[in-house]
Amino acid sequence: MSTIVSSGLDIQKIRDMFPVLHQEVNGKPLIYFDNAATSQKPKSVIDALTGYYEGYNSNIHRGIHTLAEKATTAFEETRKRAQQFINSREAEEIIFTKGTTDSINLVASTFGRKFINEGDEIIITTMEHHSNIVPWQLLCEEKGAILKVIPINEAGEIIFEEYEKLLSEKTKLVSVVYASNSLGTVNPVEKIIAKAHEVGAKVLLDGAQAAAHIVLDVQKLNCDFLALSAHKAYGPTGTGILYGKREILEKIPPYQGGGEMIKDVSFNGTTYNDIPYKFEAGTPNIADVIAFKYAMDFIDELGKTNIAQHENDLLAYSTSQLQTVDGLKLVGTAQDKVSVSSFIVDGIHHFDLGMLLDAKGVAVRTGHHCTQPLMDNFCIEGTARASFAVYNTKAEIDVMVEGLHDIVKKYRK
Ligand code: PLP
Repeated sequence: MSTIVSSGLDIQKIRDMFPVLHQEVNGKPLIYFDNAATSQKPKSVIDALTGYYEGYNSNIHRGIHTLAEKATTAFEETRKRAQQFINSREAEEIIFTKGTTDSINLVASTFGRKFINEGDEIIITTMEHHSNIVPWQLLCEEKGAILKVIPINEAGEIIFEEYEKLLSEKTKLVSVVYASNSLGTVNPVEKIIAKAHEVGAKVLLDGAQAAAHIVLDVQKLNCDFLALSAHKAYGPTGTGILYGKREILEKIPPYQGGGEMIKDVSFNGTTYNDIPYKFEAGTPNIADVIAFKYAMDFIDELGKTNIAQHENDLLAYSTSQLQTVDGLKLVGTAQDKVSVSSFIVDGIHHFDLGMLLDAKGVAVRTGHHCTQPLMDNFCIEGTARASFAVYNTKAEIDVMVEGLHDIVKKYRK
């Protein structure tokens, strides 16, 4: 492939950092467009994982020997790195979790159990991932609280006036997705947060799809919680973070009990550790947390603004090219989007689209993308979804679109 320079980024050089991209699938060069599900990992992240296991595998915090100290330092370096990455005031406001789902469940189990009571209200949007719906349904069932849902328009944008109508002094939490995995919609989170705070509600942002694409600044946003997964931002699976404001984290009870989260244990009672350790019971996912730092380095070295510019170019290109395919309808046409192109084709099931594209080496996701209520809202079962990362190119989009033309010609009823 010749050198591709886009938004000041040398895309070929970037592609060379990702070993997995250089392979054939079904006899065709791999085109990986399933980045919203999980992005690929640069060599630096993979090397950090093997570096830990080969060089200094050891449990953290409690050991005083050299390997334990090295592992502890590397683990805590990621916390400091994450603090910079989302611009939190303090590293102690960063809790390592298994990922976005775990982070949201942590908030539901701790903040939710302590501060949300019968008759209180929680607001979410129609476009939430199941992981930002079900934990609240469970909490509402337990506490007799009420879940309210902000409606969306045809383009897949929240109807802000309807959100304002839902807010009242009963609202205790607004939990919204920053960027939708199914539609790409970027929500007006600053405005959402400011409005919620006017009625004294706290705000949780699901940043799963924002982390790799949007500059995150929790102080500027003034959100109370932010959840994200490392694996959607070039990092390893099995880890992610929950950010919470110190004053809130200090008031809420621990998530799980066990080692690490305590100061003192006796049979008469236990005193809990300080934040963030109060929320990190047991041996954490040390290797993946350590490697996550290299993913954040990768993103910040390229510059999120450059990444976003390149991805926006890809999104604009795919939006125009996909519309040349007979019977294709885009699902999610918001003004402000991350690089997600969801579509359906009249007369061909989305699963078939996915399988037929896979035969051409193109990996897209199909189905409801864990957003069934959103699919119900559009009266569809699911979509095919192409989601782009910094290593993708317009030439790859051409292959997908040519493939779709071919599929439509052969299979459309
Ligand atoms: N929220 C959104 C918007 C997502 O796209 C996803 C995953 O697809 C999640 C939450 C859940 O993330 P994880 O499975 O990494 O916990």
